[in-house]
Amino acid sequence: MINQIKALPAFDDNYIWSLLGDDNKTLCVVDPGDPVPVIKMIEEQSLTLGCILITHHHPDHTGGIAELTEKYSCKVYGPDNSSIAGITDRVKEGDEFTLLGETVRVLEVPGHTLDHIAFVVGPNAAGGKPARLFSGDTLFAGGCGRLFEGTPAQMAVSLAKLTALGPETQVYCTHEYTQANLKFAIACEPGNLATHLRIAQVSALRERGEITLPTTIGLELASNPFLRCSNQQIIDSAENFSGVKPSDDIATFAAVRAWKDEF
Ligand code: ZN
Ligand code: FE
Repeated sequence: MINQIKALPAFDDNYIWSLLGDDNKTLCVVDPGDPVPVIKMIEEQSLTLGCILITHHHPDHTGGIAELTEKYSCKVYGPDNSSIAGITDRVKEGDEFTLLGETVRVLEVPGHTLDHIAFVVGPNAAGGKPARLFSGDTLFAGGCGRLFEGTPAQMAVSLAKLTALGPETQVYCTHEYTQANLKFAIACEPGNLATHLRIAQVSALRERGEITLPTTIGLELASNPFLRCSNQQIIDSAENFSGVKPSDDIATFAAVRAWKDEF
């Protein structure tokens, strides 16, 4: 079982998620772009590195693989259709494996990159814990990843896969973008009270320098504009931005994503 999930800050706004087993000794990490905070945690607490999970090929997520595997020789789970160096276990949609005694399921979520995968841990019936989703740069709190490689339609399908995990699901994404995302969310949907309440809470956390994660699928469905493309106010905002009435939810999503890119 996972005893503790803690964010290790890296670079300007990345989080490396560290998962500590109930032996209080085995650590697994998600997307270690920088090896330094991981090594520091391992040495300070005399831990062993059990494994590394990788969501996609960007260097701010993969940069620590070489140094960590050289030092600790552990397994590295990552996307099957990717050229990332150092992956020992290539995984694809529907694959399952065991991590710290819990079942991890793999979802393919192309859009931000074409190789992007997400990891779903649990739900753990025995511990009554909801599923925990490691969404990388696909679903963010209040937003979603930029479309560097995939199409809007691919990303919309990927996001729908994540929301289908259910409202209780805890979402651990890899960047602290929440406050800026919610400012954009309010521009898209000024009448959404849930978003106004949320940005007040998030701003208070950021003023104290605190993390705004994890979020939940339920909270995202209520306030994340990229998951609300059938909402009339968001359709109107998409039309305002693009000058064209969106023909469907994917077209709304595409326009909202393009607007966010220059917001
Ligand atoms: Zn990325
Ligand atoms: Fe990233």
